[in-house]
Amino acid sequence: MSKVVVVGAGIVGLATAARLAARGDDVVVVDKEDGVAAHQTGRNSGVVHSGLYYSPGSLKAQLGVAGSRSMVAFAREHGVAVDVCGKLVVATSEEEVLRLRALHERGTANGIDGLRLLAPEQAREIEPHVACAAALFVPATGIVDYRGVCDVLARQVRESGGEVRFGVRARAARDLPDGVELTVEDGEPLRADALVACAGLYADRFARASGVDPQARIVPFRGEYFELAPGAAGLVRGLVYPVPDPRFPFLGVHLTRMVHGGTHAGPNAVLALAREGYRWRDVVPADVLDALTWPGLWRLAQGNVGTGAREVVRSASRRVFARSLARLVPEITAADLVPAPAGVRAQALGRDGRLVDDFLVVTGPRQVHVVNAPSPAATASLEIARHLERQVDAALARA
Ligand SMILES: Cc1cc2nc3c(=O)[nH]c(=O)nc-3n(C[C@H](O)[C@H](O)[C@H](O)COP(=O)(O)OP(=O)(O)OC[C@H]3O[C@@H](n4cnc5c(N)ncnc54)[C@H](O)[C@@H]3O)c2cc1C
Repeated sequence: MSKVVVVGAGIVGLATAARLAARGDDVVVVDKEDGVAAHQTGRNSGVVHSGLYYSPGSLKAQLGVAGSRSMVAFAREHGVAVDVCGKLVVATSEEEVLRLRALHERGTANGIDGLRLLAPEQAREIEPHVACAAALFVPATGIVDYRGVCDVLARQVRESGGEVRFGVRARAARDLPDGVELTVEDGEPLRADALVACAGLYADRFARASGVDPQARIVPFRGEYFELAPGAAGLVRGLVYPVPDPRFPFLGVHLTRMVHGGTHAGPNAVLALAREGYRWRDVVPADVLDALTWPGLWRLAQGNVGTGAREVVRSASRRVFARSLARLVPEITAADLVPAPAGVRAQALGRDGRLVDDFLVVTGPRQVHVVNAPSPAATASLEIARHLERQVDAALARA
């Protein structure tokens, strides 16, 4: 039995902690907030992604496809709200139809069952209000209550003899000859045999502070949402997505029925001015400086000034936001949109200006740091936990 400290009570940290605790490890989870899922996990779209989009062979494809199945099974087993309602990806131009076909091929290569390319009238049998040139129906996509999943995982950690401590901010980890020490703010250091860091928006900073090169910097991209007003709720039955732009890791604003009711519209993607910058007025100068001093940001900006500016305009104008949605469902207008809480994505950006596409884990002698766990990491979390368990074992074997 090993003693393992896990930083972060988001879904990745908790899934990993539950897995390690179940096999008999002595596990302590620490999170700076006062409950589970306070950041990305509790502020996402609540979608169980099928694994459609990811490069075959990538961790995202492998863990995403397996994770879509294990997440649904886990939720059903533990009574967490889940609904495998399927989704429609909607192409609105001939150029998008070509990309939709490529997506169909990629999904098939990733082993996703039941994908169906549809003509417009077939698409309207599923979503009567969409306008499209063609659509792809993805039956394996679902919606779930990720907070509910986290509550179960935290309970499992405790039932296996582990602890989940809230209000504990981790400062840095340090390798010792016979273990690892985690210093925390306002508390005694914690000693363990190994440490797993799943610190989301602070992943790179915590790795650096702990003497591990994260190989990238986290750039916070806020995703803003609206909710469809009750009068417009009938315009969408399930999930309606655009064909994503292959140059970006985000899926484009979409319409998502939430598992506890209501339909979310969004998220867009604007650079946030704080790691946990949920509103434009949330500005942390150190976070802004952190981003601006990273050469990768300038390299990314060079080719994407127009896209960035359009995102800012869409963030400022409900009318422009509604216009993006109306490409999918033409009856939607600005009057149908009610603001809803935003989320911030932790997206790793390389020094060369490339957004890190795949999940990224870096290790130190007794440390395992999850540096890049963007979407579909919530879907894939139970599989990421399995992957991290192997990394912990490798770290312990090395030590
Ligand atoms: C807008 C949005 C929509 C998304 N939609 C989907 C979706 O539909 N489906 C999907 O699969 N994925 C989606 N994702 C991605 C998914 O939410 C994330 O990939 C996933 O939640 C990452 O989980 P995590 O545990 O790594 O990070 P987080 O949930 O961010 O958890 C990290 C935790 O670490 C804690 N922490 C950080 N630093 C410290 C410290 N120093 N000390 C102590 N604690 C610390 C934080 O408080 C936090 O609780 C979306 C993300 C966003 C933002």
